[in-house]
Amino acid sequence: MKNFREDVVLEALDKALQANPSFCRCQKCRQDVILLALSKIKGRYASSPVGEIFARVEQSDRQVRTDALLAVMQALEQVAVNPRHDGPLKLTKK
Ligand SMILES: [Zn+2]
Repeated sequence: MKNFREDVVLEALDKALQANPSFCRCQKCRQDVILLALSKIKGRYASSPVGEIFARVEQSDRQVRTDALLAVMQALEQVAVNPRHDGPLKLTKK
């Protein structure tokens, strides 16, 4: 139940990072974006039965992926404005 959402979010994160090449690539920022995006998606689907979401994702529902990408983009902006990584990490580009 946790993993299927993360798969969709990770996929969206890859796309979002490609669109934002200057975004910090450190593990901390990635993790923050993922967690933020997951909580946004969770809120969005709070009223839907979990089984329904599962079914939609299994069908590669475009709306689910669009929602995930949107949530990731918003999360990316939030983290970019207020990164929580420790100092020098920000300068490490990988
Ligand atoms: Zn970072």
